[in-house]
Amino acid sequence: MTENYVALLGTKGGPAVRPGSSMPTSNLFVMNGQKIVVDCALGVTRGLIDQGMPLQSLATIVISHMHSDHYLELGPLIHTAWTSGLKTDVTIYGPDGIDVYWEGFLASMKADIDLRIEDEGRPDIRDLVHIQTIDAGIVFERDGLSVTAIRNEHPPLVDTFAFSFKTANHHVVFSGDTAPITALSDFASGADLLIHEAMLESALPALMERIGNGSDKLMAHWLRSHTFAHDAAITAQNAGVKRLALSHLIPSDDPTYGTKDWETACEGHFDGELIVGYDGIRIDL
Ligand SMILES: [Zn+2]
Ligand SMILES: [Zn+2]
Repeated sequence: MTENYVALLGTKGGPAVRPGSSMPTSNLFVMNGQKIVVDCALGVTRGLIDQGMPLQSLATIVISHMHSDHYLELGPLIHTAWTSGLKTDVTIYGPDGIDVYWEGFLASMKADIDLRIEDEGRPDIRDLVHIQTIDAGIVFERDGLSVTAIRNEHPPLVDTFAFSFKTANHHVVFSGDTAPITALSDFASGADLLIHEAMLESALPALMERIGNGSDKLMAHWLRSHTFAHDAAITAQNAGVKRLALSHLIPSDDPTYGTKDWETACEGHFDGELIVGYDGIRIDL
C-alpha cells in the first residue's frame, strides 16, 4: 500500500529564528509513491531526515518564490544528499532566478565539490541537478501526479506561486505566500487539503516590537502581501475544501499566543477540519 501524506517540516513565516522559534517553510509531499520537497528553508535537511526520508532518494524540489525563508537551504540540502550517496538526477522547479542561486551555490562550494570528486570519487553534482524555470500552468505531470501553478499575490514579487498536487485519489493545494485572492478558492476548489499561510492579526503589533529593527514598511509588507488566519479560513470555505492546515505562521514564537488563538481566529469562517501546523506534523491523505 502506498502512503500518501504531507509533512510540514517548517511552519514559521519569515526568515528570522529566535529562542523557542519553529523553523521557516519547508514541506514534504508524498503522493503516488513520489516525494516532492516544496520549499527549502533553513532546517529542511533535518526536517526530511526526521521524516525518515533517505536523502539519496531526493529527486524533485519545487520552490514557490525567491524569499529566503523558502530557499535558503536549497543548495546545502542537495549537497548533503550528494555526500549522503545521491547519484541520481534532481530537478529543481522554481521561479526565474533560481538558476542564479544554484550557480552561485556551486561557485561558493567549488573547492569542496572538486575535492570530493577527485579525492572520494563522487559523481559530479553539477551533472545531477537540473533547473526548470516555472510559470503559471503545468509544472510537471508524472506517474499519475499532476502539479500545476498559479501566480499568487505577494508583492513586490511577480514570480510567486501557489501549487496544486493532484492524483486520481487526492488533491492538495499549497497557497505559497500570498494576500487573499479569489483565484486561490477556484484553484483549490473541492481539494482534500489546503495548506495556507496565516497571520494572527492581534499579535502583529507585539511582533513588530520584538523584531526591533523593522519600520512601518515591514507592517505594510505584511498587510499587502500576506493573509490573516480568518481570511485563509474564508478562502478555504469558498473553495469547499475538506481540511485547512495553517502554516507559515506569523507570529510563531510568541508564547502569549498558541493553537487556541489560531482556532479562535478561524471560528465561524470555515466548516471543515482545521489543523494548526507545527514543525514535523504529518497529515495523512
Ligand atoms: Zn515566507
Ligand atoms: Zn515570501
